[in-house]
Amino acid sequence: MNPIPYGRQHITEADIAAVVETLQSDFLTQGPKVAEFEQAFARYVGARYAVACANGTAALHLCSLALGVSQESRVITTPITFVASANGVRYCGGQVEFSDIDPDTALLDVEKVRELIESKPKGYYSGIIPVDFAGNPVNLEPFRQLADEHGLWLVEDAAHSPGGYFIDSQGEKQHCGNGNYADLAIFSFHPVKHIATGEGGMVTTNSEELYQKLLLYRTHGITRDPALMEKNHGGWYMEMQELGYNYRIPDMLCALGLSQLSRAEEGLERRRAIANVYDEAFAGVAGIQTLTTTPEALHGEKTGHAYHLYVIRVPERKGLYDYLREHHIFAQVHYIPAHTMPYYRSLGYKKGDFPAAEHYYAECLSLPMYPTLTETEQAFVIKKVKEFVQQ
Ligand SMILES: *Cc1c(COP(=O)(O)O)cnc(C)c1O
Repeated sequence: MNPIPYGRQHITEADIAAVVETLQSDFLTQGPKVAEFEQAFARYVGARYAVACANGTAALHLCSLALGVSQESRVITTPITFVASANGVRYCGGQVEFSDIDPDTALLDVEKVRELIESKPKGYYSGIIPVDFAGNPVNLEPFRQLADEHGLWLVEDAAHSPGGYFIDSQGEKQHCGNGNYADLAIFSFHPVKHIATGEGGMVTTNSEELYQKLLLYRTHGITRDPALMEKNHGGWYMEMQELGYNYRIPDMLCALGLSQLSRAEEGLERRRAIANVYDEAFAGVAGIQTLTTTPEALHGEKTGHAYHLYVIRVPERKGLYDYLREHHIFAQVHYIPAHTMPYYRSLGYKKGDFPAAEHYYAECLSLPMYPTLTETEQAFVIKKVKEFVQQ
């Protein structure tokens, strides 16, 4: 059996043809595919605007820039995430305030966030970054309510959840990144994510004002739009109005993204089918726990979970990880709590600060989950997991 990773991209002949076609066009960096990808992606998630950029981390930095994060800003996020969710705030000098997870879902616990906010005077915090961890969409409605009560902004890190949704209190499907509850949302097109462009990212929003700022910061803070400029010396004229970055994504990667996006629903269906097989295989097995997902009986669908990851919790995690590796199954751990990283410890955090996150980390393991995982491969993974746990 070939090695089985925890996640991998799926590149088709159509994807390759799309990239080659763009390579043969006149545009290697900024061309028509960028806007096409942005529009198609905005439509896919149901947002008004989308801004494509270099990667998901750049997308998070752009969010901080557009929201005006500074050294005075304090921003709350979860320790169970990829460190980039927090780092985007640090790039702007802002302070990251972690808050513990709900142990059942491993998502940022809104009640704990509320306690944290209410323990400080009004105006102390600037924003919240919930993460749709593993592809399980955060219910953003209570987060929005809390943010509005305290004048905070909300950025949804939806890197794990393109195509996912939660159902709000009105019974409406709210797709991740649709901008109805969060001010901004980010996505990543890293090869292990749903849509792969190598490097790539996207910010979505319904705010025209934030959209214009994102465009400015993506390309050096430079505008060429005469309507936005102070002066105009002629056709060549442009203005650098802010200290921006070069966070552009090339046209050929957007062509790849468009091609991948056209298969996104198919991939999502396959991920959900794989999750069902795991769910059934592990139900009632002593020593294996799964994460609670939001059950959505509405619309005839079991769940709005996007299944970037399929996580199990086992007491002997290292043993299982090593056992699977011996059999060429490369499961992975998501995540080492961000506050226990040497960098964040250097800022004052320490082990013991967030017990639910640390307990979760001690037991979690992400099993192989990607659309091209075959039934035979998945059966082999399940067999080896059970073998270890039941020995
Ligand atoms: C992958 C990921 C990112 C960063 O994306 P890159 O494209 O790798 O920079 C941010 N947040 C989360 C939760 C991620 O999983």
